[in-house]
Amino acid sequence: MDEFALIRRYFDHEPARPPLLLGVGDDAALLQTDGDRLIATCCDTLVAGRHFAADAAPEHIGWKALAVNLSDLAAMGALPLSFLLALTLPEADETWLDGFARGMFDLARQHHVQLAGGDTTRGPLTITVTAFGEVAPTHVMRRDGARSGDLICVTGSLGDAAAALDGADAPALQARLHTPVPRVAAGRVLSRYAGAAIDISDGLLGDLGHIARASGVGIDIRADLLPASAALSALGSPRQLQWQATGGDDYELAVAMAPEDVNDAVAACKALSLPLTVIGCCTGAEGVRLLSASGVPCDLPDSGYRHF
Ligand code: ADP
Ligand code: MG
Repeated sequence: MDEFALIRRYFDHEPARPPLLLGVGDDAALLQTDGDRLIATCCDTLVAGRHFAADAAPEHIGWKALAVNLSDLAAMGALPLSFLLALTLPEADETWLDGFARGMFDLARQHHVQLAGGDTTRGPLTITVTAFGEVAPTHVMRRDGARSGDLICVTGSLGDAAAALDGADAPALQARLHTPVPRVAAGRVLSRYAGAAIDISDGLLGDLGHIARASGVGIDIRADLLPASAALSALGSPRQLQWQATGGDDYELAVAMAPEDVNDAVAACKALSLPLTVIGCCTGAEGVRLLSASGVPCDLPDSGYRHF
């Protein structure tokens, strides 16, 4: 049973009912309140030896534990409000804790979010952050909001983190892997235009598969349009396309929007100094295809990351 089948079978038995508006299956859940905003909430766990090397810099681990959650809020179009920290530690190593806290609070300050509480236990090093955000009901981006004819756009560039994980040691690539920048401001801006979004944590093609399934559309992606950073292009690697299309950990946003909104969305992202690139479109078919410029399917193993 793979990770997503497991979740569906054991933890996704019933449709959401108020105050829950959107439950299992999106980047964050949505809760109704009395006010005019929805609460978005999500949690993500980092496990030593799986999500980071046991000897990874604690500053990076602290930053990333919060960043991956802010990224899920960004994918909903939500503004981060606060977060909780559940920390399981093999020992109370003060040097490690100093670094971890510094990394986490550096990012928290940038987004004006405060730590609201948590839990501390002894065991194998594991970090779970639960984040809370708010979003206007009219601006929510859900995985089921894509329509046939929509264009698929992606923020920033793809493949840097996967290249770093594969051993590329350029500092710009390593930074993308260890201190990813959650696209929070872009998510808020894009929520004015996009019906659907996902953050690319497990690989572009695999993550777009979630939008395709939830929205009942097919998605065709053009390999020649995938944006690459200068640092990635400089490697001139034959694995570049593989990294861009299936590598995880980029934490860029992939969004679906009507073609007539793309120019405004690109301009709005440009004002944030973030490129937004059209990389494909939604079709009436099923599944996600990676195509060459001439429309021939590219032969890549579809390897979005799954834990089981
Ligand atoms: P993401 O990559 O955006 O963090 P995941 O792939 O981790 O999302 O999870 C997919 C969906 O399944 C999310 O909506 C998440 O909340 C839900 N989910 C994952 N594990 C569980 C669980 N044990 N119980 C309930 N829901 C879960
Ligand atoms: Mg996500």
